Amino acid sequence: MDDGLRIPLAVLRRRADPRLVRRTVELDDMHVGEVVVVDGRVDVDFEVEARGLDVVVSGEVRARWLGACRRCLGDVGGDLDLRVQEVLSVDCGVPGRSDAGPEGSTGGVVESGDVYSLDGAEADLEPVVRDVVLLALPLSPLCVEDCVGPDPDRFPTVGATGLDEEARGEEVPVDSRWAALDVLRAPEE
Ligand SMILES: [Zn+2]
Repeated sequence: MDDGLRIPLAVLRRRADPRLVRRTVELDDMHVGEVVVVDGRVDVDFEVEARGLDVVVSGEVRARWLGACRRCLGDVGGDLDLRVQEVLSVDCGVPGRSDAGPEGSTGGVVESGDVYSLDGAEADLEPVVRDVVLLALPLSPLCVEDCVGPDPDRFPTVGATGLDEEARGEEVPVDSRWAALDVLRAPEE
């Protein structure tokens, strides 16, 4: 929770110019699975403007993430630098966000077309920041594009050869970490 992202509507509506919101916030629970935003820290650089009853937020957020490579489990990390363009609206009708638009886009630009609700006396930008960053986190990162895994000679992870051999009924090496599961196999008839 960071009050730096709550702006009184009265302040926004009194001003003709957009209000600049430039700060670093630390948000709780900023992760998707094992991929975490480092310290939950996000650099926010927004222009926030009242437009009629709505509030328009545009600008950028930046964050650093860390996770584990999906093949070798080594550390992997990266930086997010994302464009933001969102609307907070009193007419949105439901509390929280509505999913009025199509599926959020992937890639560097997040313009989901979703509308955030405005209620009470403040514009709360935290849900905007949270959604933009969490949607952009990689779900199953790789340390390098052609990572070969922890032990490529015994347990190849690239190519489909393992699957082919299995389909032909040939013996394929099995990771010893799975050995405990052998007891679950049905006995031979
Ligand atoms: Zn790796």
